[in-house]
Amino acid sequence: MTGRSDAKTISDPDRYRPDHCPQCEAKQSLIGHGFYRRTLVDPVFDGVIRVRRYLCRLCQRTVSLLPEFALPWLRFSLTVISLFLVARLLRGLTLVAAALAASQAAMPYQRGQFWIRRFRKQAPALGVALAPLAAPVTAPDFVARALSMLESIGWIAAHRFLFADLRGHLLGWPPGLAPNGRQATFSPACAVA
Ligand SMILES: [Zn+2]
Repeated sequence: MTGRSDAKTISDPDRYRPDHCPQCEAKQSLIGHGFYRRTLVDPVFDGVIRVRRYLCRLCQRTVSLLPEFALPWLRFSLTVISLFLVARLLRGLTLVAAALAASQAAMPYQRGQFWIRRFRKQAPALGVALAPLAAPVTAPDFVARALSMLESIGWIAAHRFLFADLRGHLLGWPPGLAPNGRQATFSPACAVA
């Protein structure tokens, strides 16, 4: 899968400036509005990234552009989380081995359990939401079904579809952002307000 930290993407944030406001749909309405910093942990990157923020001249709301492998509200990248979930829930590895598969050998097991708990809760909804993108899947349960679909669609493509089209999140939104996350948009990178 793709999703490696791309220094070019991060250093050239205007490359993916959305051509319309995701909130009021106005065209060519977004202007640069500074940056914010967030941490991101990826198999090949662990540090702070600058995230471009835009302001809509029409509705005066802001939109921020995240790299597509960065999940809104989660510090760990989609790559790390997907490698972990597949190793643990699809291949049946132990928590320790799954952490190793995700290049997070030293991570506390509670972190992995948190991802698993969130994913299990989301799995039935993911199966429904991703059905238009995936070939029919035969699987013993919701979790296996959702994982098989994500593997066949590609996690980043699935994330992009869920987030941009349905305002959904692979691991669900936390209570403060439920049900739809903050206002956001997507391009090859994705955005949160
Ligand atoms: Zn707007």
